[in-house]
Amino acid sequence: MMNFTHYDDTIPLDLAGLGSGPFNLSLAALLESLPELQVRFFDKKPSFGWHPGLMLPGAHMQTSCLKDLVTAVQPTSRWSFLSFLVEKERFYSFLSTEKMVISRTEFVEYMSWVAENLESLQFGSEIREVSFEKDSFILHTENEKVKAHNLCLGTGKVPYVPDCARAMVGQHCFHASELMTRQPELRNRKVAIIGGGQTGAEVFLNCLREKWGKADQIQWISRRASFEPLDESPFTNEYFTPDYVSRFLSLPEEKKETIVQYQKLASDGITPAYLLEIYRELYDRTYLYQDQINWKLLPDRTLKAMSESSGGFYDLKLTNALSAEDEILSADIVILCTGFQNVLPPYLEPIQPRLNLDEYHRFKLSSSFAVDWEGPDNRRIYAVNAGLHSHGIAEPQLSLTAWRSATIINDLAQREIFSVNQPVSLIDW
Ligand SMILES: Cc1cc2nc3c(=O)[nH]c(=O)nc-3n(C[C@H](O)[C@H](O)[C@H](O)COP(=O)(O)OP(=O)(O)OC[C@H]3O[C@@H](n4cnc5c(N)ncnc54)[C@H](O)[C@@H]3O)c2cc1C
Repeated sequence: MMNFTHYDDTIPLDLAGLGSGPFNLSLAALLESLPELQVRFFDKKPSFGWHPGLMLPGAHMQTSCLKDLVTAVQPTSRWSFLSFLVEKERFYSFLSTEKMVISRTEFVEYMSWVAENLESLQFGSEIREVSFEKDSFILHTENEKVKAHNLCLGTGKVPYVPDCARAMVGQHCFHASELMTRQPELRNRKVAIIGGGQTGAEVFLNCLREKWGKADQIQWISRRASFEPLDESPFTNEYFTPDYVSRFLSLPEEKKETIVQYQKLASDGITPAYLLEIYRELYDRTYLYQDQINWKLLPDRTLKAMSESSGGFYDLKLTNALSAEDEILSADIVILCTGFQNVLPPYLEPIQPRLNLDEYHRFKLSSSFAVDWEGPDNRRIYAVNAGLHSHGIAEPQLSLTAWRSATIINDLAQREIFSVNQPVSLIDW
């Protein structure tokens, strides 16, 4: 990796990437095809990591391993998942597993391998501020200022904590994104898991399997009517294609929100195989082993309020949508599996007045992921994982990562470096 202190920052970068999560990592990998461009990606982590606090035992991807960083647009890239398998000498063994969906551990290993080998990544560099002076963006890290002509914002989302839980956050009430770094002691505790998505499911099963000690009681609360599956059926998968994104982009803004809500389970449900694993575990414990772990499955409940009792535990007020009645639960530990949200990155504050945001304070994005802002036409700010409202449900997911990166690169280069033509879809949208 190039040592940053030796970099001549009088020459502006053609593109600075902010964050090196999977989305910008894909951009960095594909940008290797354009060595004439000066690019650099900055990440605050000391080395590559992917949601380390959520790297729960047994966690699997929700997308095919062919939806990697590059394959969809450059299958011959040395940074493909297949290339990784060959280099790690596990190609034949991998085929014998008959897997298309791999463990998150292996996907992280693959992405770390890419990250370790790309020259354009610089870890341990948090971007504190971005300003625009004369004709360049200036990125401020703790020690340096770096000039760039274009940016790609890829600093991800932040954990979402429901309003009623915010004041409770602390040692015994925390967001699941911190779980593996905290390694909480759950022995003899009453645990409440809030959230009925994939993370809630993974936390529930791991609690049941005593990953953090044998809890006294495990209560799994979901707002959804039941513990609902991810819709991975073939026609639903068509939402995750460039063709569908292009159709979605052409829809009136007021329609988009409703459609995204309607499609929620295509991206936010629980993997059906994982649901079956949980169900079978509960069956075995109930009928075969008579295991004494006490659990409660509580769907159709919305967390309305939380308070801390004098005895040191929490009272949770839930509304049961079936009975329309309120229920009170108590818990010693509350794990918030409540997802992530987009916020406007605070480092953009100096240029915020020049951003043309929508009424909800979100970026207005072009079809090529360029942010609408008051600046010279040839100075662009791209944003990834920030366009659910404009590009649809594929946007926060890995499915179109390579295609999105290729679209951005073509726009940046102002010529077709990668073919991003819409492949024929089986559906007439
Ligand atoms: C547990 C989990 C599992 C998922 N599994 C799947 C899946 O199987 N399939 C799928 O399609 N989608 C999945 N997703 C959704 C999506 O793919 C991920 O959220 C993905 O990580 C998004 O990538 P990203 O690059 O936008 O953001 P992130 O992965 O969040 O990366 C952002 C990066 O920016 C860095 N950063 C933040 N602020 C700064 C700063 N100021 N300066 C420098 N660096 C900064 C961070 O250190 C981080 O490395 C999953 C999400 C989660 C949470």
